[in-house]
Amino acid sequence: MGTNEGGVVYDYGRCPCTGAYEGRFIEVEMEVSGRQVVVTSIPQGECPGCGSQVYKLQIIERMETLMRPEKG
Ligand SMILES: [Zn+2]
Repeated sequence: MGTNEGGVVYDYGRCPCTGAYEGRFIEVEMEVSGRQVVVTSIPQGECPGCGSQVYKLQIIERMETLMRPEKG
Protein backbone atom coordinates (compact mmCIF):
# COMPACT_ATOMS: atom_id res chain seq x y z
CA MET A 1 0.00 0.00 0.00
CA GLY A 2 1.09 3.52 0.55
CA THR A 3 4.62 3.08 1.75
CA ASN A 4 7.33 4.95 -0.05
CA GLU A 5 10.31 2.69 -0.42
CA GLY A 6 13.91 3.58 -0.75
CA GLY A 7 13.82 7.32 -0.63
CA VAL A 8 13.28 10.50 1.24
CA VAL A 9 9.65 11.50 1.43
CA TYR A 10 8.88 15.17 1.34
CA ASP A 11 5.70 16.66 2.65
CA TYR A 12 4.41 19.26 0.23
CA GLY A 13 1.20 19.92 2.06
CA ARG A 14 -1.99 20.76 0.25
CA CYS A 15 -2.69 22.71 -2.88
CA PRO A 16 -4.99 25.76 -2.73
CA CYS A 17 -7.39 23.80 -4.96
CA THR A 18 -7.73 21.35 -2.03
CA GLY A 19 -5.82 18.59 -3.80
CA ALA A 20 -2.87 16.98 -2.10
CA TYR A 21 0.51 17.31 -3.73
CA GLU A 22 2.03 14.05 -4.83
CA GLY A 23 5.76 13.70 -4.47
CA ARG A 24 7.86 12.54 -7.38
CA PHE A 25 11.34 12.97 -8.78
CA ILE A 26 12.15 14.78 -11.97
CA GLU A 27 15.13 15.70 -14.10
CA VAL A 28 16.03 19.34 -14.51
CA GLU A 29 18.24 20.66 -17.25
CA MET A 30 20.16 23.77 -16.36
CA GLU A 31 23.11 25.77 -17.51
CA VAL A 32 26.10 25.74 -15.19
CA SER A 33 29.11 27.81 -16.13
CA GLY A 34 28.06 27.80 -19.78
CA ARG A 35 27.48 24.05 -19.90
CA GLN A 36 24.21 22.20 -20.03
CA VAL A 37 23.90 19.95 -17.03
CA VAL A 38 21.09 17.54 -16.25
CA VAL A 39 20.36 17.17 -12.58
CA THR A 40 18.37 14.06 -11.80
CA SER A 41 16.27 13.05 -8.82
CA ILE A 42 14.98 16.53 -8.06
CA PRO A 43 12.09 16.12 -5.64
CA GLN A 44 8.98 17.84 -6.86
CA GLY A 45 5.40 17.90 -5.72
CA GLU A 46 2.62 17.99 -8.24
CA CYS A 47 -1.06 18.43 -7.63
CA PRO A 48 -3.07 15.81 -9.54
CA GLY A 49 -6.07 18.11 -9.47
CA CYS A 50 -4.80 21.30 -11.12
CA GLY A 51 -1.28 20.35 -12.11
CA SER A 52 0.45 23.01 -10.04
CA GLN A 53 4.01 22.16 -9.12
CA VAL A 54 6.03 22.92 -6.04
CA TYR A 55 9.61 22.44 -4.94
CA LYS A 56 11.03 22.35 -1.50
CA LEU A 57 12.85 25.53 -0.56
CA GLN A 58 16.06 23.63 0.11
CA ILE A 59 15.95 22.20 -3.41
CA ILE A 60 15.51 25.64 -4.96
CA GLU A 61 18.41 26.95 -2.93
CA ARG A 62 20.54 24.04 -4.04
CA MET A 63 19.72 24.58 -7.70
CA GLU A 64 20.48 28.29 -7.38
CA THR A 65 23.79 27.44 -5.78
CA LEU A 66 24.60 25.17 -8.72
CA MET A 67 23.72 27.85 -11.25
CA ARG A 68 25.65 30.59 -9.53
CA PRO A 69 29.20 31.03 -10.79
CA GLU A 70 31.79 30.30 -8.20
CA LYS A 71 33.65 33.22 -6.81
CA GLY A 72 37.24 33.23 -5.81
ZN1 LIG B 1 -4.21 21.84 -7.13
